[in-house]
Amino acid sequence: MIRAINVSKHYPGGRNVLQEIDLHLPKGQMAFLTGPSGAGKSTLLKLIARIETVSRGTLLLDGQDLAKLKRRHIPQLRRQLGIVFQDHKLLADRSVFANVALTLQVAGVRRAHIKSRVRAALDQVGLSGREQDSPLSLSGGEQQRVGIARAIVHSPKVLIADEPTGNLDPQLSSEIMDLFRNLNRHGMTLLIATHDLGQVERLDCPVYALQHGRLQNQEARP
Ligand code: ADP
Ligand code: ADP
Repeated sequence: MIRAINVSKHYPGGRNVLQEIDLHLPKGQMAFLTGPSGAGKSTLLKLIARIETVSRGTLLLDGQDLAKLKRRHIPQLRRQLGIVFQDHKLLADRSVFANVALTLQVAGVRRAHIKSRVRAALDQVGLSGREQDSPLSLSGGEQQRVGIARAIVHSPKVLIADEPTGNLDPQLSSEIMDLFRNLNRHGMTLLIATHDLGQVERLDCPVYALQHGRLQNQEARP
């Protein structure tokens, strides 16, 4: 589902922040991307989401070469992908419902469909009945659940998450990771960047470890 072949990345005028990355994440797998701050985790996720473009090498998402993707096809690509951020990026002046509905509205989905899909997504993250609440009235863990509902509301094949538990205590982190595990059991492919090694050990998924822009284990540890 995600395949990187000899991928390098440098930002304009900068040194390489990713070097010769080879990675293969098969359909239906959940894996972690670990490494200290600055190792290049966010950059790799941004390449996968086509927020940034590779400098060298080939990056395939579901068989599609992201470098050859025409600009007008990027929205189509994004529909196959869900993205979860550490800081949720929720809109504070909108309800939980509106936050989750946003991507579907932008995609032009019909209102009746939006309603049922938002409900289903909130149900999946354990927030049924919280549609009309303000994000500000929710705890940190609940806010992150809204962020996840928003990322999965369009039923993406792949979910990428950048430090999704970075601001949460161990108990809430476990709940969020178990939620990811559950999505994975239902067939979703997930790549989760984290430096929470406790969770990585607990969940027993393949681990891609980045250090100074290089993968330490080109073959992920099973
Ligand atoms: P991580 O997510 O592992 O903390 P990042 O991918 O955010 O790592 O950063 C890797 C390196 O790339 C860091 O040295 C960072 O300063 C640099 N970097 C990240 N984004 C940019 C950018 N937009 N422009 C220039 N350098 C960047
Ligand atoms: P993270 O470690 O989670 O990537 P950062 O605080 O490093 O978060 O980065 C926040 C944002 O700033 C990201 O979009 C990243 O790409 C960008 N960024 C990081 N380092 C640099 C840099 N040296 N120059 C420009 N942008 C950067």
